Order: sequence, then C-alpha cells, then structure tokens
Amino acid sequence: MSEKRQLDDVKRVVVKVGTSTLIHANGQINLHALDQLCFVLSGLVNEGKQVVLVSSGAIGVGMGQVGLSTRPDEIPAQQALASIGQGLLMTIYQQRFSTYGQKISQVLLTHDVLDYPTSKQNVFNTLDTLLKWGVIPIINENDTIAVDELDHHTKFGDNDQLSAIVADIVDADLLIMLSDIDGFFNKNPQKHKDAKLIAEINKIDADVVKKAGGKGSKFGTGGMMTKLKAAKRILKHDRMMVLANGADPAVIFKIMHGDKIGTLFRKK
Ligand code: ADP
Repeated sequence: MSEKRQLDDVKRVVVKVGTSTLIHANGQINLHALDQLCFVLSGLVNEGKQVVLVSSGAIGVGMGQVGLSTRPDEIPAQQALASIGQGLLMTIYQQRFSTYGQKISQVLLTHDVLDYPTSKQNVFNTLDTLLKWGVIPIINENDTIAVDELDHHTKFGDNDQLSAIVADIVDADLLIMLSDIDGFFNKNPQKHKDAKLIAEINKIDADVVKKAGGKGSKFGTGGMMTKLKAAKRILKHDRMMVLANGADPAVIFKIMHGDKIGTLFRKK
C-alpha cells in the first residue's frame, strides 16, 4: 500500500463535528477548535472543494448559556437548550468564517424530508445551489420539532447519521467525522490502554460492531455505534468516511491531502 491515500479526486466533502470538539469539558466553547475549523474549511473552499458542515453543539452551547453542567434528561429542556445554543453557535460561526471571507448558511433538517421526494429534492436543490456558490451550509437537526413517534418520525436521532444522510443527499465523495478520539480502535481506548487504531475498514460486520464500546464524553451523545451505523450507510453508497480526532481541526487539511490519519472506511 502506498504511503498516501488517494483522496485528490474528492470534490464534495461533508465534515461532521461532535460536541466534544466544540465544547470544553467545563462547558465553555472551545474557541481555538472552532476558529481552526472555520480556517480549514474556508481554505478548502479556496482550493475549489465544496464543503458542507454538520455541526453538533447547540445543546452544549445552550447549557453553557444557562449555567448547566449536566445535560438534562427531559426532552423539552434539551429542545429549549438547543434553541438557545443554536443561535449563538451560528453567530460565532458567522463571525469566525467572515474573518476568512467565507459565506455560510444555516439549514435545519428533520428526518421526514427523506420520506417525501419533493422535500428531499428541495433540500438537494438548496444545498447544491449553496455549494455551487461557494457557500458552506451548516446543518443541524431541527431539535425543536424533532420527534420519534410511530406515525410521525422526524428525528434523525444523532448527527452521525444525519451527516451520512446529508452525504447521500448532496452525493458527497467523502465524510470526515471529527470526534474526541483518534479513530476506530480494536477496543474502547478510554477503557483499554493497549487498544490499537485500525487504519482502514472495508466492511461493517459483526466483528467490527463487537469492537465498539459505549459513549465517551459527557457532552457526546453518539458513541461508536452511531458512527458505525453512519459508516455502514457511507459504504453502502460507495462513499468514503474518515473518522479522526477533532482536537486539532487542521487534520482536515492533512486528511484531504491523503495523509494516513484516523480510520478510513471505504469499500475494497
Ligand atoms: P462525539 O461527541 O465526538 O460524537 P462520542 O463521545 O459520542 O463522540 O464517541 C466517541 C467515544 O466512543 C470515544 O471517546 C470512546 O470513548 C468511545 N469508543 C467506544 N468504542 C470505541 C472504539 N472501538 N474505538 C474508538 N472509540 C470508542
């Protein structure tokens, strides 16, 4: 295998950042990481790439605003916090991206757009236009109205899966998923010191699923299972996904330039 991955042809990329990348353990916004992220994504657009950002963090930012240190279990409280945090998060993105002359937009989605071909087409049309204009759409679930009922299913559940669905909608070549961990390991590295990073996974089978443990940070919601579910969707549609550590979002440049960072999911 060559020393570099062949990712030169990637034109459309979806980047997903987890709450653990954007929010410090003390609940404050990680301005350094956020700034780096805006810098790198703007740089990619300047290189001619089309970039979509799926950003978590609204509830975490909302918690910081009202002074909560633990995420409430009640759905109305979570939705209220998301509503507080989303606006502030977008304001910060707006400020930082504008430093680099980068235009952004906000798109809030619910799962039912997938059930209605016209809605799905509308989402595609909007995102496709934004991307062709060099704008970075920033996507999140529309938390206030998202519900998970038998006959009314509007919730994606988590942004890991939302980001894989967005990759499908815009027909992206690559999904870069940033988390609080260097990639996918043969066991949960938070619990096992001898865990080893897996550089490439070509199939999500029972053996891979067995290696995924529970969730990590107090803000993170998905854990590895939701990342594997997202990876499964990505592989099914012949796209690629890289799971990497978002502590320094500058890794996105390196990943795009073929450096072997994190875990690459792709079909053989
Ligand atoms: P995020 O907020 O970025 O979505 P999560 O906390 O939801 O991140 O998920 C990442 C966490 O998953 C890691 O910090 C780690 O504790 C846990 N994890 C469980 N199994 C594994 C594994 N096999 N490889 C890597 N991380 C794992």
